[in-house]
Amino acid sequence: MLEISALSARYGAVTALTDVSLSVENKQIVSLLGSNGAGKSTLLGCVTNSIPATKTGSITLDGEEISALPTDAIIARGLVLVPEGRQLFAELTVEENLRMGAYGLDRGRRWRSDLERVYALFPKLVERRQQIAATMSGGEQQMVAIGRAMMARPRIVLLDEPSLGLAPLLVREIFKLIEEINREGVTVLLVEQNARQALRIAHRAYVVEKGRITLSGSAERLMEEHNVVEAYLGEA
Ligand code: ATP
Repeated sequence: MLEISALSARYGAVTALTDVSLSVENKQIVSLLGSNGAGKSTLLGCVTNSIPATKTGSITLDGEEISALPTDAIIARGLVLVPEGRQLFAELTVEENLRMGAYGLDRGRRWRSDLERVYALFPKLVERRQQIAATMSGGEQQMVAIGRAMMARPRIVLLDEPSLGLAPLLVREIFKLIEEINREGVTVLLVEQNARQALRIAHRAYVVEKGRITLSGSAERLMEEHNVVEAYLGEA
């Protein structure tokens, strides 16, 4: 279980998170909703220790305090971030990008089977294995980014707005993939502005506003919550 307690974070004088507590049970999908600038990416970056924010509070993975560990040690424990905007190696091929996901993880002899596993999950990438990442569509790039994370054999993936900028059909496809990854036993912490889809696939959800958690509960309960419906689902 990933447990965040009393996490606060700031960038110099800018406070991004205040006293955030949140937990993600093993094998669940937990969605984190909130508008632009609410602090969602900061929260994910704090977990993987990959942003220049100053933080206080505690982050534990199965009881072990990980907040002071370097990013590579956190990845080695099975926690992998798929950042917003995908951040692929634009000039490399799909397969080269995927292999980067296992880079440095002492999986020298296993990367081939990991690669086959990722292709089984994303059959559409097989015929694209030699395509340069920069020439792919947004949805295809998102698949590569998630596939690259899967190469690290994560126990928990942190997904930062995977549906951003995608056409509705592709959005559905990405959410299906997230469910499939979860069915394989991977825990998911999902940051999304697409609240309806994010709640549909989640077990639990949190709403973050101006750096604070303002609502939490089962995804079903949040879907019925008047404020959430109004603010994030575009319905009065
Ligand atoms: P979005 O959905 O727009 O990505 P978000 O909920 O992920 O938003 P964050 O990116 O976490 O929000 O930003 C939270 C706050 O921290 C914002 O006010 C933002 O301007 C600020 N912030 C983020 N990164 C930095 C940085 N590197 N330096 C200074 N301030 C930052």
